Amino acid sequence: MATTTFTKKTLGITAAESPAKPTASNNETAFLKKPKLGTRSRKKDIPEGLWTKCPKCATMLYDKELDDNLKVCLHCGFHFSIGARERINALVETCSFEEMDAEMTSVDILKFTGVASYTSKLEAYQNSTGSKDAVISGIGQIGPHRLALGVMDFNFLGGSMGSVVGEKLTRLIETATDRGLPLVIISTSGGARMYEGMFSLMQMAKTSGALAYHAKNKLPYLSVLTHPTTAGVMASYASLGDLILAEPGSMIGFAGPRVIKDTTQAELPPGFQTAEFLLDHGLIDAIVPRKEMKDRLIFYLDFLKDGTRQGDMPA
Ligand SMILES: [Zn+2]
Repeated sequence: MATTTFTKKTLGITAAESPAKPTASNNETAFLKKPKLGTRSRKKDIPEGLWTKCPKCATMLYDKELDDNLKVCLHCGFHFSIGARERINALVETCSFEEMDAEMTSVDILKFTGVASYTSKLEAYQNSTGSKDAVISGIGQIGPHRLALGVMDFNFLGGSMGSVVGEKLTRLIETATDRGLPLVIISTSGGARMYEGMFSLMQMAKTSGALAYHAKNKLPYLSVLTHPTTAGVMASYASLGDLILAEPGSMIGFAGPRVIKDTTQAELPPGFQTAEFLLDHGLIDAIVPRKEMKDRLIFYLDFLKDGTRQGDMPA
Protein backbone atom coordinates (compact mmCIF):
# COMPACT_ATOMS: atom_id res chain seq x y z
CA MET A 1 0.00 0.00 0.00
CA ALA A 2 2.77 2.39 0.99
CA THR A 3 4.61 1.80 -2.29
CA THR A 4 1.47 2.39 -4.30
CA THR A 5 0.82 5.71 -2.56
CA PHE A 6 4.42 6.83 -3.17
CA THR A 7 4.28 5.99 -6.84
CA LYS A 8 1.02 7.80 -7.28
CA LYS A 9 2.42 10.91 -5.60
CA THR A 10 5.53 10.77 -7.76
CA LEU A 11 3.48 10.53 -10.92
CA GLY A 12 1.15 13.23 -9.76
CA ILE A 13 1.35 16.97 -9.40
CA THR A 14 3.12 16.98 -5.97
CA ALA A 15 6.39 15.59 -7.27
CA ALA A 16 6.42 17.73 -10.37
CA GLU A 17 5.77 20.89 -8.43
CA SER A 18 8.50 20.28 -5.78
CA PRO A 19 11.96 20.93 -7.23
CA ALA A 20 13.57 20.71 -3.74
CA LYS A 21 13.21 16.92 -3.49
CA PRO A 22 16.19 14.58 -2.91
CA THR A 23 18.15 13.59 -6.06
CA ALA A 24 16.92 9.97 -6.13
CA SER A 25 13.34 11.09 -6.03
CA ASN A 26 13.92 13.62 -8.81
CA ASN A 27 15.51 10.94 -10.97
CA GLU A 28 12.60 8.65 -10.38
CA THR A 29 10.13 11.42 -11.13
CA ALA A 30 11.91 12.30 -14.33
CA PHE A 31 12.03 8.67 -15.39
CA LEU A 32 8.37 8.04 -14.67
CA LYS A 33 7.05 11.28 -16.06
CA LYS A 34 8.85 11.33 -19.35
CA PRO A 35 6.82 8.73 -21.24
CA LYS A 36 3.61 10.37 -20.07
CA LEU A 37 4.74 13.80 -21.28
CA GLY A 38 5.99 12.22 -24.48
CA THR A 39 2.58 10.74 -25.19
CA ARG A 40 0.88 14.04 -24.51
CA SER A 41 3.16 16.06 -26.77
CA ARG A 42 2.85 13.53 -29.56
CA LYS A 43 -0.91 13.92 -29.42
CA LYS A 44 -0.51 17.69 -29.51
CA ASP A 45 1.81 17.35 -32.52
CA ILE A 46 -0.95 15.76 -34.62
CA PRO A 47 -2.96 18.61 -36.13
CA GLU A 48 -6.67 18.08 -36.57
CA GLY A 49 -7.91 17.11 -40.02
CA LEU A 50 -5.22 14.53 -40.77
CA TRP A 51 -7.46 11.56 -40.09
CA THR A 52 -10.82 10.60 -41.53
CA LYS A 53 -13.23 8.05 -40.09
CA CYS A 54 -14.66 5.63 -42.62
CA PRO A 55 -18.47 5.86 -42.42
CA LYS A 56 -18.82 2.18 -43.38
CA CYS A 57 -16.26 0.33 -41.21
CA ALA A 58 -15.43 3.13 -38.69
CA THR A 59 -11.66 2.72 -39.22
CA MET A 60 -9.60 5.87 -38.71
CA LEU A 61 -7.75 6.46 -41.98
CA TYR A 62 -4.64 8.58 -42.36
CA ASP A 63 -5.56 11.24 -44.94
CA LYS A 64 -2.38 10.87 -46.96
CA GLU A 65 -2.88 7.12 -47.30
CA LEU A 66 -6.51 7.73 -48.21
CA ASP A 67 -5.48 10.25 -50.89
CA ASP A 68 -2.83 7.85 -52.23
CA ASN A 69 -5.56 5.20 -52.50
CA LEU A 70 -7.80 7.54 -54.57
CA LYS A 71 -10.04 8.19 -51.53
CA VAL A 72 -11.06 4.55 -51.20
CA CYS A 73 -11.04 3.02 -47.67
CA LEU A 74 -8.03 0.71 -47.34
CA HIS A 75 -9.99 -1.69 -45.12
CA CYS A 76 -13.50 -2.05 -46.54
CA GLY A 77 -13.29 -0.40 -49.99
CA PHE A 78 -15.78 2.39 -49.21
CA HIS A 79 -15.57 5.06 -51.91
CA PHE A 80 -15.34 8.59 -50.47
CA SER A 81 -16.30 11.46 -52.75
CA ILE A 82 -13.42 12.79 -54.84
CA GLY A 83 -13.01 16.15 -56.59
CA ALA A 84 -13.19 16.41 -60.37
CA ARG A 85 -9.55 17.46 -60.78
CA GLU A 86 -8.26 14.63 -58.58
CA ARG A 87 -10.28 12.22 -60.65
CA ILE A 88 -8.94 13.60 -63.95
CA ASN A 89 -5.36 13.43 -62.65
CA ALA A 90 -5.88 9.79 -61.68
CA LEU A 91 -7.28 8.88 -65.10
CA VAL A 92 -5.46 10.74 -67.86
CA GLU A 93 -1.84 10.47 -68.93
CA THR A 94 0.37 13.15 -67.41
CA CYS A 95 0.03 16.58 -69.07
CA SER A 96 -2.31 15.21 -71.75
CA PHE A 97 -5.49 16.99 -70.63
CA GLU A 98 -6.46 20.17 -72.48
CA GLU A 99 -9.34 21.78 -70.66
CA MET A 100 -12.14 23.41 -72.67
CA ASP A 101 -14.31 26.39 -71.71
CA ALA A 102 -12.69 26.69 -68.28
CA GLU A 103 -13.85 30.30 -67.88
CA MET A 104 -17.51 29.75 -68.76
CA THR A 105 -19.59 31.13 -65.88
CA SER A 106 -23.28 30.94 -64.97
CA VAL A 107 -25.50 34.01 -65.22
CA ASP A 108 -28.19 34.73 -62.64
CA ILE A 109 -30.86 35.10 -65.30
CA LEU A 110 -33.81 34.77 -62.86
CA LYS A 111 -32.25 37.08 -60.22
CA PHE A 112 -32.87 34.19 -57.83
CA THR A 113 -32.67 34.86 -54.12
CA GLY A 114 -33.43 32.31 -51.43
CA VAL A 115 -31.54 32.24 -48.13
CA ALA A 116 -28.68 33.71 -50.18
CA SER A 117 -28.60 35.03 -53.73
CA TYR A 118 -27.56 32.71 -56.56
CA THR A 119 -24.75 35.12 -57.44
CA SER A 120 -23.28 34.95 -53.93
CA LYS A 121 -23.56 31.15 -53.92
CA LEU A 122 -21.75 30.94 -57.25
CA GLU A 123 -18.96 33.14 -55.92
CA ALA A 124 -18.63 31.07 -52.73
CA TYR A 125 -18.40 27.77 -54.62
CA GLN A 126 -16.01 29.22 -57.20
CA ASN A 127 -13.71 30.23 -54.35
CA SER A 128 -13.98 26.92 -52.48
CA THR A 129 -13.50 24.63 -55.51
CA GLY A 130 -11.29 26.76 -57.77
CA SER A 131 -13.63 25.93 -60.68
CA LYS A 132 -16.15 28.18 -62.41
CA ASP A 133 -18.91 25.56 -62.39
CA ALA A 134 -19.79 21.92 -61.62
CA VAL A 135 -18.11 20.21 -64.58
CA ILE A 136 -14.63 20.10 -66.04
CA SER A 137 -14.41 19.16 -69.70
CA GLY A 138 -11.59 18.66 -72.15
CA ILE A 139 -9.62 16.41 -74.44
CA GLY A 140 -7.14 13.98 -72.95
CA GLN A 141 -5.36 10.69 -73.36
CA ILE A 142 -6.17 7.53 -71.42
CA GLY A 143 -3.73 4.74 -72.30
CA PRO A 144 -3.64 4.61 -76.12
CA HIS A 145 -6.97 6.44 -76.50
CA ARG A 146 -7.42 10.12 -77.14
CA LEU A 147 -10.89 11.03 -75.94
CA ALA A 148 -13.30 13.71 -74.84
CA LEU A 149 -13.68 13.66 -71.07
CA GLY A 150 -16.22 15.43 -68.86
CA VAL A 151 -16.05 15.08 -65.08
CA MET A 152 -18.67 16.50 -62.75
CA ASP A 153 -17.85 17.84 -59.28
CA PHE A 154 -20.36 17.29 -56.46
CA ASN A 155 -18.50 19.84 -54.33
CA PHE A 156 -19.83 22.63 -56.60
CA LEU A 157 -23.49 23.23 -55.67
CA GLY A 158 -24.18 19.49 -55.38
CA GLY A 159 -23.01 18.87 -58.95
CA SER A 160 -26.20 20.53 -60.15
CA MET A 161 -26.74 20.94 -63.88
CA GLY A 162 -27.30 24.53 -64.92
CA SER A 163 -26.75 26.25 -68.27
CA VAL A 164 -22.97 26.10 -67.96
CA VAL A 165 -22.82 22.36 -67.17
CA GLY A 166 -25.20 21.66 -70.06
CA GLU A 167 -23.37 23.94 -72.49
CA LYS A 168 -19.89 22.70 -71.57
CA LEU A 169 -20.95 19.07 -71.96
CA THR A 170 -22.75 19.80 -75.24
CA ARG A 171 -19.64 21.51 -76.64
CA LEU A 172 -17.56 18.55 -75.43
CA ILE A 173 -19.88 16.05 -77.13
CA GLU A 174 -19.93 18.11 -80.34
CA THR A 175 -16.12 18.36 -80.32
CA ALA A 176 -15.94 14.58 -79.88
CA THR A 177 -18.31 14.14 -82.82
CA ASP A 178 -16.38 16.58 -85.04
CA ARG A 179 -13.01 15.03 -84.24
CA GLY A 180 -14.22 11.41 -84.23
CA LEU A 181 -13.33 10.86 -80.60
CA PRO A 182 -14.84 8.53 -78.04
CA LEU A 183 -16.53 10.21 -75.10
CA VAL A 184 -16.44 9.51 -71.36
CA ILE A 185 -18.60 11.48 -68.92
CA ILE A 186 -18.21 10.84 -65.21
CA SER A 187 -21.36 12.03 -63.49
CA THR A 188 -22.28 12.98 -59.97
CA SER A 189 -25.23 15.26 -59.45
CA GLY A 190 -28.24 16.15 -57.38
CA GLY A 191 -30.02 17.04 -60.64
CA ALA A 192 -31.03 20.20 -62.47
CA ARG A 193 -30.06 23.52 -60.84
CA MET A 194 -33.21 25.10 -59.43
CA TYR A 195 -31.64 28.58 -59.42
CA GLU A 196 -31.87 28.59 -63.22
CA GLY A 197 -35.39 27.19 -63.50
CA MET A 198 -36.33 26.03 -66.98
CA PHE A 199 -32.93 26.99 -68.43
CA SER A 200 -31.42 24.11 -66.46
CA LEU A 201 -34.15 21.67 -67.52
CA MET A 202 -33.50 22.50 -71.19
CA GLN A 203 -29.96 21.18 -70.77
CA MET A 204 -31.40 17.66 -70.62
CA ALA A 205 -32.71 17.95 -74.19
CA LYS A 206 -29.61 19.78 -75.46
CA THR A 207 -27.09 17.23 -74.15
CA SER A 208 -29.26 14.29 -75.27
CA GLY A 209 -29.58 15.77 -78.76
CA ALA A 210 -25.81 16.22 -79.04
CA LEU A 211 -25.31 12.61 -77.90
CA ALA A 212 -27.67 11.39 -80.63
CA TYR A 213 -25.38 12.97 -83.29
CA HIS A 214 -22.33 11.44 -81.58
CA ALA A 215 -24.00 8.01 -81.67
CA LYS A 216 -25.04 8.51 -85.32
CA ASN A 217 -21.34 8.80 -86.13
CA LYS A 218 -20.81 5.38 -84.50
CA LEU A 219 -18.60 6.81 -81.80
CA PRO A 220 -18.58 5.17 -78.36
CA TYR A 221 -19.85 6.95 -75.27
CA LEU A 222 -19.09 5.51 -71.83
CA SER A 223 -21.11 6.93 -68.96
CA VAL A 224 -19.65 6.50 -65.48
CA LEU A 225 -22.02 7.02 -62.55
CA THR A 226 -20.62 7.92 -59.16
CA HIS A 227 -22.24 8.61 -55.81
CA PRO A 228 -24.77 10.16 -56.11
CA THR A 229 -26.15 10.49 -59.65
CA THR A 230 -29.80 11.47 -59.62
CA ALA A 231 -32.69 13.40 -61.17
CA GLY A 232 -32.25 15.43 -64.39
CA VAL A 233 -28.69 14.26 -64.99
CA MET A 234 -29.66 10.59 -64.59
CA ALA A 235 -32.71 11.23 -66.77
CA SER A 236 -30.56 12.60 -69.61
CA TYR A 237 -26.91 12.10 -70.59
CA ALA A 238 -25.89 9.90 -67.63
CA SER A 239 -28.22 7.08 -68.70
CA LEU A 240 -27.50 7.30 -72.45
CA GLY A 241 -24.10 5.59 -72.52
CA ASP A 242 -23.32 2.72 -74.88
CA LEU A 243 -21.94 1.27 -71.69
CA ILE A 244 -23.01 2.50 -68.29
CA LEU A 245 -20.53 1.87 -65.48
CA ALA A 246 -20.88 2.74 -61.81
CA GLU A 247 -18.66 2.95 -58.77
CA PRO A 248 -19.51 0.50 -55.97
CA GLY A 249 -22.16 1.63 -53.50
CA SER A 250 -23.24 4.66 -55.56
CA MET A 251 -26.76 5.98 -55.08
CA ILE A 252 -28.35 6.20 -58.51
CA GLY A 253 -31.91 7.14 -59.34
CA PHE A 254 -34.36 9.84 -60.35
CA ALA A 255 -36.38 10.91 -57.30
CA GLY A 256 -35.19 10.11 -53.79
CA PRO A 257 -36.49 6.94 -52.06
CA ARG A 258 -38.67 8.90 -49.60
CA VAL A 259 -40.47 10.72 -52.42
CA ILE A 260 -41.06 7.46 -54.30
CA LYS A 261 -42.33 5.74 -51.17
CA ASP A 262 -44.72 8.60 -50.39
CA THR A 263 -45.98 8.75 -53.97
CA THR A 264 -46.42 5.03 -54.64
CA GLN A 265 -47.37 4.09 -51.05
CA ALA A 266 -45.32 0.91 -51.59
CA GLU A 267 -42.48 -0.60 -49.57
CA LEU A 268 -39.21 -0.27 -51.44
CA PRO A 269 -36.97 -3.34 -51.74
CA PRO A 270 -33.71 -3.44 -49.74
CA GLY A 271 -30.75 -1.80 -51.50
CA PHE A 272 -33.12 0.14 -53.78
CA GLN A 273 -31.26 2.72 -55.95
CA THR A 274 -27.79 1.37 -55.22
CA ALA A 275 -25.43 0.55 -58.09
CA GLU A 276 -25.54 -3.13 -57.05
CA PHE A 277 -29.36 -3.24 -57.20
CA LEU A 278 -29.39 -1.54 -60.60
CA LEU A 279 -26.78 -3.96 -61.97
CA ASP A 280 -28.98 -6.89 -60.89
CA HIS A 281 -31.95 -5.27 -62.65
CA GLY A 282 -30.15 -4.45 -65.89
CA LEU A 283 -29.98 -0.66 -65.76
CA ILE A 284 -26.19 -0.52 -65.63
CA ASP A 285 -23.62 -2.76 -67.29
CA ALA A 286 -20.82 -3.06 -64.73
CA ILE A 287 -19.65 -1.93 -61.32
CA VAL A 288 -16.05 -0.81 -61.46
CA PRO A 289 -14.00 0.11 -58.37
CA ARG A 290 -12.27 3.49 -58.68
CA LYS A 291 -8.78 2.01 -58.69
CA GLU A 292 -9.64 -0.23 -61.65
CA MET A 293 -11.51 2.45 -63.61
CA LYS A 294 -8.65 3.54 -65.86
CA ASP A 295 -7.75 -0.01 -66.96
CA ARG A 296 -11.38 -0.90 -67.52
CA LEU A 297 -12.02 2.24 -69.61
CA ILE A 298 -8.99 1.37 -71.76
CA PHE A 299 -10.29 -2.19 -72.13
CA TYR A 300 -13.79 -1.10 -73.17
CA LEU A 301 -12.46 1.52 -75.59
CA ASP A 302 -10.13 -1.06 -77.17
CA PHE A 303 -13.19 -3.18 -77.66
CA LEU A 304 -15.53 -0.50 -79.02
CA LYS A 305 -13.04 1.34 -81.21
CA ASP A 306 -13.24 -1.17 -84.07
CA GLY A 307 -16.76 0.00 -84.85
CA THR A 308 -15.83 3.68 -84.86
CA ARG A 309 -14.82 5.98 -87.66
CA GLN A 310 -11.08 5.95 -88.18
CA GLY A 311 -8.82 8.82 -89.24
CA ASP A 312 -9.13 12.55 -88.67
CA MET A 313 -7.71 12.10 -85.18
CA PRO A 314 -6.12 15.29 -83.88
CA ALA A 315 -2.39 15.16 -83.26
ZN1 LIG B 1 -13.91 1.47 -44.40
